Amino acid sequence: MGFGLGSGFGANAPRHQDAAGAGAGDDNGDEASSRGDPRTVAGRPTARVGQPWTVAPASLECLQGAAVTRCMVLNASYEYLNIEDSWFDSLMLVLEGKAIPIEHYPEVVRSQHCTFQLPAVVVMRYQVMVKKRTKLFQMPTKKAVFIRDNFECQYCGSRLTMGAGTRDHVVPRALKGPDSLTNVVASCKPCNGRKANRTPEQAGMVLRNRPRPLTDEEKIRCVLKTCRSKERQTWLGCLKRLGITLWSN
Ligand SMILES: [Zn+2]
Repeated sequence: MGFGLGSGFGANAPRHQDAAGAGAGDDNGDEASSRGDPRTVAGRPTARVGQPWTVAPASLECLQGAAVTRCMVLNASYEYLNIEDSWFDSLMLVLEGKAIPIEHYPEVVRSQHCTFQLPAVVVMRYQVMVKKRTKLFQMPTKKAVFIRDNFECQYCGSRLTMGAGTRDHVVPRALKGPDSLTNVVASCKPCNGRKANRTPEQAGMVLRNRPRPLTDEEKIRCVLKTCRSKERQTWLGCLKRLGITLWSN
């Protein structure tokens, strides 16, 4: 049992009507739900979800904070939408019929009568309108460049921090070099100063890696402050298996 939530939770759960037959028209579950947490959307999930809604919202709330396994949320177009920090919220997306899970973690949470496998990646059933993300990962922001370059100066290899490191235009702006991921690298201040408004060749400096666009993994690192390797592996495995490309344009 991944989170060890099952047994303790069962004992602490508020008593409520079990709507095990919810799909067959037993409305007790709705009655229990409607008295609870306002975050719970009225009514139970659609029958397509295939899970009888037997957990009163208050009961699920008892579990909140006990585990923090994040879920990647894809739009209906299979493009990246956001990362849901709370497993409770991502599970609710599924139980409310708003999203379809396409990858699960092995961990489960249990109510008195139900076991729910925690979703790792879900796809929204409807398209959520978002601001155009086209430019988000095409811009050579310091964060994007440093993550791609592994926080190493691309000339001398020294370790960089966001505060002390700089961005360097390989072909300088003064020579009409573009402000793009394929022309910007992470650089320490001394190297940047030595190179000045020259190309690496002119300055007699050698680039360790050619600047390039971000990989999906690097994009994930850009949107997360921290990312557990297990989450990343699960997400990337799912994306690869299904041939999904995040931020395709
Ligand atoms: Zn350097």
